[in-house]
Amino acid sequence: MRKPELLAPAGDLERLKWAIDYGADAVYIGGPSLGLRANAKNFTFEEIKEGVLYAHERGKRVFVTINIVLHNKEIGEVDSTLEELKKIGVDAVIVSDPAIMKKALEKKMEVHVSTQQSTLNYEACKWWYEMGVKRVVLGREATRAEILEIREKLPELEIECFIHGAMCAGVSGRCVLSNFFTNRDANRGGCAQICRWDFHLWDGEKQIEGEKPFTFCSKDLSMLSMIPEMIFMGITSFKIEGRMRSIYYIATVLHTYRRAIDTFLASPSTYTYPIEYEKILRNCANRDSVLQFMNGVNDESMGYYNGREEVSNQDFLGVILSYDKETKMAVVEERNYFELGDEVEIFGPSTEVFSMRIKRIVDEEKKEITVVRHPKQIVEMQVDHEVKKNDLIRKKILN
Ligand code: SF4
Repeated sequence: MRKPELLAPAGDLERLKWAIDYGADAVYIGGPSLGLRANAKNFTFEEIKEGVLYAHERGKRVFVTINIVLHNKEIGEVDSTLEELKKIGVDAVIVSDPAIMKKALEKKMEVHVSTQQSTLNYEACKWWYEMGVKRVVLGREATRAEILEIREKLPELEIECFIHGAMCAGVSGRCVLSNFFTNRDANRGGCAQICRWDFHLWDGEKQIEGEKPFTFCSKDLSMLSMIPEMIFMGITSFKIEGRMRSIYYIATVLHTYRRAIDTFLASPSTYTYPIEYEKILRNCANRDSVLQFMNGVNDESMGYYNGREEVSNQDFLGVILSYDKETKMAVVEERNYFELGDEVEIFGPSTEVFSMRIKRIVDEEKKEITVVRHPKQIVEMQVDHEVKKNDLIRKKILN
């Protein structure tokens, strides 16, 4: 039984550091060019350098995605981009286009085949492996049986699977809805998430009446309940989706999976499914989560089709900036409204989750206040339990 890598997304340098601090073994980021996620603040080479240094100092790894569908006019950029990344010392490049893959392999860089290739079978994996790639990120549509067969036939190949995050109603991004509706290319990082829009259906001249408008919207993916099984399956890397997610989302999801994986590995025979973690994950998402394709079932339970209620989450209350052990006061930067008497939970990379009721808050002039309502307002809050910089405060979730 091998310890899997927990792989986190990072849309910028700040998120990269949060992800490392909150338990990621590796992070994946977008480079200055040629990466998907046009809206994520892609990294400059200078930022990649800083991120790689930060990660390597802590024994963690950084992968750079270069997975757009490449056009002729961009081929000239590939060599210089790869050379620069190699010089910086990134640990691998995540690639989809064979042209980039060939050049990266020629430069003796570690290559991971991107999920954009929709690899779902062992012959394709073998092809990539024989080409020299180290790892294949399987398409999200891979089932348990398919993954097991790939693992059995290619024991040396690293296999990476998504364990958490949003799904795409197209096949791993190969969708042109966004191109048609908004002229934004989903395969070049511009997806406008058309599948989540509401549509009215027509059969010729006749509108098909439904209680709610139609949507293609997939539910999210969550493999929390399958962590032990996925470890037994020999999956090398557990990947979390979402380079554009907030630091709260990244920290919460990582913290939860980190604890589930580590608890299981510490004592597989006594591990019990942490049902309360489901609640934590559900609270920081705005859609339902299911196992999606893992069980080989592809039915209506995987999507919404008839509209959905997306709840904007306001659980994230603040970030601890510092803590004074003598006065037991924590300096807090507000993220959502909170007030005296609120039941909250605090957690962090080395702070086990604990709950408390807010009993004292003072503003920057040390005046007693009862509510904190301004975005990023700095206040001091009494916290009797020792906390640390970058611990997070959320509304109470656990009982
Ligand atoms: S519009 Fe929806 S299905 Fe198409 S690429 Fe974007 S997320 Fe995927």
